[in-house]
Amino acid sequence: MFWWRTAALLLGAIFLALLLQPIVGWRISLAVLSGSLLALLGYHLYNLDRLGRWLNDPTPDTVPESYGAWEGVYSRLYRMVRAQGKSQRKLSAALDRFVAAGEAMPEGVVVLDSNDRIEWCNPRSMQHLGLDRKKDLGQHVAYLVRLPAFQHYLTTQDYSQPVILRNVAGSDTILSVQLVPFDSTRKLLLTRDITQLERVQTVHRDFVANVSHELRTPLTVVGGFLETLIDMPDMDVATRQSQLKMMFDQTGRMQRLVEDLLTLSRLESGAEGREDRVDAVQLAQILAAEAEGLSKGRHQVCVEVLSEAGLRGNYDELHSAFGNLVSNAVRYTPEGGQIRLKWRLEDGCGVFAVEDTGLGVEAQHIPRLTERFYRVDRGRSRSTGGTGLGLAIVKHIAQRHQAKLEVSSELGKGSCFRIRFPANRVLEPQELLLSSK
Ligand code: ADP
Repeated sequence: MFWWRTAALLLGAIFLALLLQPIVGWRISLAVLSGSLLALLGYHLYNLDRLGRWLNDPTPDTVPESYGAWEGVYSRLYRMVRAQGKSQRKLSAALDRFVAAGEAMPEGVVVLDSNDRIEWCNPRSMQHLGLDRKKDLGQHVAYLVRLPAFQHYLTTQDYSQPVILRNVAGSDTILSVQLVPFDSTRKLLLTRDITQLERVQTVHRDFVANVSHELRTPLTVVGGFLETLIDMPDMDVATRQSQLKMMFDQTGRMQRLVEDLLTLSRLESGAEGREDRVDAVQLAQILAAEAEGLSKGRHQVCVEVLSEAGLRGNYDELHSAFGNLVSNAVRYTPEGGQIRLKWRLEDGCGVFAVEDTGLGVEAQHIPRLTERFYRVDRGRSRSTGGTGLGLAIVKHIAQRHQAKLEVSSELGKGSCFRIRFPANRVLEPQELLLSSK
């Protein structure tokens, strides 16, 4: 079109010169032809200049307007630039969405170029690896993550499995880091915080090891005695009786352990227990009677009730928690000691306490007493029928009632275990009359 129009104008100018030549002579007709050609050249040069200037900032709104051959050129340019702008806007919106998705990812993402230099990273990866987006873009990732395990992973080029990194950037989080090659030269570096998962796995491993260890001793004892009984059918009655008694004790120990484990697992399963109106005074008296039963007259047991208030909670769970504290007091208090069960209100909170004048616990053990299987004195715990799970159960039950277990103790003098219930769990005495347990 452009070429055709220019050629038509040229031919028109030549034709006009030829037409004029017989009338006005060669000179004038050549002058007219030169003038026309110059005008055509000027028109093209002028438009070329406009086009050149427009190309410095090519926006659809500033596309020049013209006539003749250049009109078509400009209108095509206008359509092209508009379409390009549209697709560019679409592309940049899609890119923005991808970047926003990358930024919002709960896992860390770092884009590495063909030389393992950082091209882009999301906030989570900055947090995981201690990166600074302003300073670290363009840096080699191995300079920033200096752990030998990572350097080895990067150089082996086997990225099928993630690598576990500890103490990255001086923090105690545990990271699972994996490289994913893409785009034939680039790599994605994905980071995931697995601290919690590792902790759960460690707790689980320790728990299984502890349970197996707890069961091994009674099983070995029972197995050993059974073997003797099989090998010595003529064993005298007294020895047999004593061995049967020991086996019975050991099976009792296993039974208690299994019962405690089941209680813990039920408590940990999170299923809500029934909510009862518990008469705390009556419960304290029942527990005192149980303590006397356990003590068999070796201790002096007394109940100190300073409030008639009741408690809103699960009766069986509260009985089990208070019962564990009472049983511990009996087991860890030498003969002649005193055990005091207390129920009172402190600033509106209900406080149930078990105080003893027993062995006491050194301060450094106190924070760990509620850990499963933690015992200060293994021998004493086992010989008195302890499973090492009692206080773990107490803590769980307290938590389920939004209560706190507080422990104070002095070695050789005695201990006090308190469960402090929030005010909203305390019931007025008359509320107990409605239906008490
Ligand atoms: P256990 O079955 O061993 O008694 P617990 O979880 O009930 O397990 O208690 C954990 C440890 O706390 C016990 O092994 C014991 O060392 C210590 N402990 C608990 N109660 C008392 C107490 N009243 N006096 C002294 N030590 C106690």
